[in-house]
Amino acid sequence: MGAPQFFDEGDLVSVLTTQPLDRALDYKAPEGGCQLGAFVEVPLGPRKVLGVVWGAGRGDFDIARVRSVIRVLDAAPMREEMRDFLRRAADYTLTPMPAMLRLATRVPGLGDPPSMRKIYRRGAAEPDRMTDARRRVLAALSDYGDLAFTQRELAETAGVSASVIKGLAAQGAVTEEDSPRDTPYPRLDAEAAGKALTGDQTAAAAALSEAVRSGRYGTTLLRGVTGSGKTEVYLEAVAACLRAGRQALVLLPEIALTAEFLTRVEARFGARPAEWHSGATMTERRRIWKMAGQGAAPLVIGARSALFLPFRDLGLIVVDEEHDTSYKQEEGVLYNARDMAVLRASICGAQVVLASATPSLESWVNAQAGKYRRLELTSRYGPAVLPEMRPIDMRGADLPSDRWISDTLREAVTRRLEAGEQSMLFINRRGYAPVTLCRACGHQIGCDQCDARMVEHRFQKRLVCHQCGETRPMPVACPSCGAEGRLAAIGPGVERLGEEAAALFPDARIATLSSDMYGSARALKAEIEGIAAGGADIVIGTQLVAKGHNFPLLTLVGVIDADLGLQGSDLRAAERTFQLMRQVAGRAGRAERPGLALLQTYQPEHPVIRAIVGGAEEAFWDAEAREREAAGVPPYGRLAGIILSAPEAALAFDVGNRLAREDAALRAIGAQVFGPAPAPIARVRGRHRVRLLVKARKEAPLQEAIAAWIAPLRVKGDLRLAVDIDPQSFL
Ligand code: ADP
Ligand code: ZN
Repeated sequence: MGAPQFFDEGDLVSVLTTQPLDRALDYKAPEGGCQLGAFVEVPLGPRKVLGVVWGAGRGDFDIARVRSVIRVLDAAPMREEMRDFLRRAADYTLTPMPAMLRLATRVPGLGDPPSMRKIYRRGAAEPDRMTDARRRVLAALSDYGDLAFTQRELAETAGVSASVIKGLAAQGAVTEEDSPRDTPYPRLDAEAAGKALTGDQTAAAAALSEAVRSGRYGTTLLRGVTGSGKTEVYLEAVAACLRAGRQALVLLPEIALTAEFLTRVEARFGARPAEWHSGATMTERRRIWKMAGQGAAPLVIGARSALFLPFRDLGLIVVDEEHDTSYKQEEGVLYNARDMAVLRASICGAQVVLASATPSLESWVNAQAGKYRRLELTSRYGPAVLPEMRPIDMRGADLPSDRWISDTLREAVTRRLEAGEQSMLFINRRGYAPVTLCRACGHQIGCDQCDARMVEHRFQKRLVCHQCGETRPMPVACPSCGAEGRLAAIGPGVERLGEEAAALFPDARIATLSSDMYGSARALKAEIEGIAAGGADIVIGTQLVAKGHNFPLLTLVGVIDADLGLQGSDLRAAERTFQLMRQVAGRAGRAERPGLALLQTYQPEHPVIRAIVGGAEEAFWDAEAREREAAGVPPYGRLAGIILSAPEAALAFDVGNRLAREDAALRAIGAQVFGPAPAPIARVRGRHRVRLLVKARKEAPLQEAIAAWIAPLRVKGDLRLAVDIDPQSFL
């Protein structure tokens, strides 16, 4: 190491800021000195900005002009391990360090002094006169011994208004003091016994717990069908981690962060863990961030960005539903939280558990190659059995053009209704109809900003662009020819399917679930929980419903268009379709009643559809792996996307062509470059997008080569360049 751990006042320190500069800047350590890794506020021009003390100053500034750090913030200094993680994640994703630091400090009010709130205890004095309300306050305080209450807690416990408490405080009968709002999270009880595990589960839990106790890095792929008890098993690993005195992080796709899940964790450990997600309040976020750094948040359950919390001693990272595409951040810093979890764990000596019923091909191949350990849970817990799966050949269904539910599917739903069981109809398309066509002139309404059609959302009475979010009221007249009342909805979306179901099953209670129909993620979750408890007979949903919810009464899943994911040029189309269909089918028959999944398809002989229906998972992965290996694409080769965007297509193409011509740095490592070509969605938010694809062997030093390749390019003005290492989406 050798680097000093502490800098005395006036020493030169190098401070990395969150501002887009290409280097760390020198400052003088403030009065009282500062530690390596300290979070500080520094002057930059006329502003004050956030930074981290990154090391000793370089001393290449005019010393007379070096300014001083303004102050050290009230937060645990960033540890060496975290700085190393950020550096390596930056190298991997070709992200500038300031952007990396922004990810790691995405917490409001970091610079604020610790905020205070009033807490109350029993005071020495007696009140001048006793009322009923006052008696209740004093009784509440003495009932709980020396415990302090916030004003609200005390008012609620005693059933009084705040003024009663204020009155008692004025007389010294209760004491009022300031206490920091950011308080440690409750201890979790790692000794409490979990559920009695089955043979499979016991073996998997023991293997994971032992790995956690080793205190070393390792990654395990925990594969098991939906409902096999993966969660029960990894909670045992969490318990082992807590017993070892280290912190644990469980990552979930945002939407799977349900109250149901948190209640389950609370039941296991006797207290609520910290929850990091987009719905968390600013105060909650700051508390988690600070407590993670002090080691006072033993367990964090969070969405992907929780990976950048400053844990003091992280011993375990669980990535649940590891194949989920939402782990890939597609804006700003382009990173995959699953891969970054492995990187972080390897730096801090933690274990990673990748849990899934349908792992990504990447993880499957890593397990086959022995890089990851593989643990399997082969059967569902208890009497639940895997649903039977059957294709419905739509070529013989003979449906009118505005209907999508085949007779076979309709009859199956009717039988469930009669038996008092739930059915789910699944279609992976939001809105009412994907296309709005003018029957007079043939015009299809498109987005002005993008190369995309506007999607009708009848529930909101608007047209919405799913690319850029542009929306406008549903017009009466065709925007092209002006004909009135001739606009027709073409094709199905989830809302339209709801309409069809309502017509076919007039007596059923139908719930349509689509993210945009609910004001907030919380409202949506509440709705889902109501449905799980039996609040609907037929659930109609998009992919949202495929993730991690338990619907015990559900015994039938109908997939309206199983072919939807098979179209398109995406390298992962087959894999995605396979995962999605298995997940959706996994919703059926989770309790004691057996489930049935029906897949409507026009291509029943397609290998993906056959693998899904036949449950031939290993065969599917093997075949898919062989194809990718032959093509030299991930996980057997490496890809990187370069996206150039500009208001003028010509500018983006000029630069793209120059990159394609001047590719010596890529050729030096044997990599090839394809393009430039218009990106599949060539215009987004009014910017033209051009894409190049770089393909290299697995061992090739791809990042260094790309950095060298694009370095001569001075990206300026209206042009933007983004590098996407291991692209997931080809949009
Ligand atoms: P997965 O994470 O694989 O989908 P879960 O851990 O959620 O599976 O288990 C599915 C259901 O079965 C849950 O309700 C869970 O509480 C229950 N379950 C699983 N294993 C056991 C067990 N050993 N004892 C009691 N209940 C169990
Ligand atoms: Zn648009």
